[in-house]
Amino acid sequence: SPMIVSFGEMLIDFVPDVAGVSLAESYAFIKAPGGAPANVACAIAKLGGNAAFIGKVGDDEFGHMLANLLKKSGVNSDGICFDKDARTALAFVTLKADGQREFMFYRSPSADMLLKESELKLDLIKQAKIFHYGSISLISEPCKSAHMAAMKAAKQAGVLLSYDPNVRLPLWPSPEAARDGIKSIWDQADFVKVSDDEVEFLTKGDPKKDDVVMSLWNDNFKLLIVTDGPEGCRYFSKKFKGKVNGYKVKTIDTTGAGDAFVGAFLQAVAKDPNLFNDENKLKEALVFANACGAISTTQKGAIPSLPDKAQAENLIKEAK
Ligand code: ATP
Repeated sequence: SPMIVSFGEMLIDFVPDVAGVSLAESYAFIKAPGGAPANVACAIAKLGGNAAFIGKVGDDEFGHMLANLLKKSGVNSDGICFDKDARTALAFVTLKADGQREFMFYRSPSADMLLKESELKLDLIKQAKIFHYGSISLISEPCKSAHMAAMKAAKQAGVLLSYDPNVRLPLWPSPEAARDGIKSIWDQADFVKVSDDEVEFLTKGDPKKDDVVMSLWNDNFKLLIVTDGPEGCRYFSKKFKGKVNGYKVKTIDTTGAGDAFVGAFLQAVAKDPNLFNDENKLKEALVFANACGAISTTQKGAIPSLPDKAQAENLIKEAK
């Protein structure tokens, strides 16, 4: 099946073993593989799709563990580089009582920020149907230039571009720098997925209002998707807009829900790029993506809770 290449950070999240405590108060941390683009690649592979990941980790135990996990998950790992000097990125993540997350990063700089343009496996990108990326790889050089070069190569080869900004404010010098950086590549994408919080951050407006969301529209887009947590998602295109309801599940940890959603949606696009012209097909793909997002919240960690096709189809059937 057509290949989806995901580009960016792969790292270790350290998450307190109990939710609702601060980093200082927590006693033990669970080691959870993460990094949104790596999660997306795993989500696609779990659904039976053809996924590859491009990024850099340290030539250390964590880096090799992550690369092996991707391989074991069925993701093409030819594009993973190992840095001899820098460490694999670490993030300490607090799960607050209200389910929101707070991040503290160890990057000084970490290996993911040191991916160089010369290290890119461009042939992998050119073969892809979709090239997916976030915004963390835009924060500093040399990774920023590698990101730009990868996007350019994809675009020239007629590959569809998919952007999930994944705002992580503590990594940017200032909120303004984050907003500018995230928007600097806005017009390049064929589709963009943002969460309602990200709409609020980027527009300073009410994310529930369609005209606020549409202020993020760019005429180069084929589709703009806003995810609304348990409520599901909204979609906006040149021809139509609408809402697709989410699924009620026993949520334990929402980490990676957005990535499970994106992986499922991209896998549907890879199979049928004409999805954007047919509202019923588009809705069907978003129903499936909502189900995948929901299931991913029912277990701890981003990758262990990713659903396969049968699990998602079961949830959809049960809810009918
Ligand atoms: P993250 O950054 O945590 O990966 P996100 O903020 O990008 O996620 P969300 O809106 O939280 O994205 O979740 C993406 C999708 O997953 C939603 O559109 C929804 O379909 C599903 N989802 C998320 N949280 C829940 C939940 N608590 N219950 C059911 N479905 C959920």
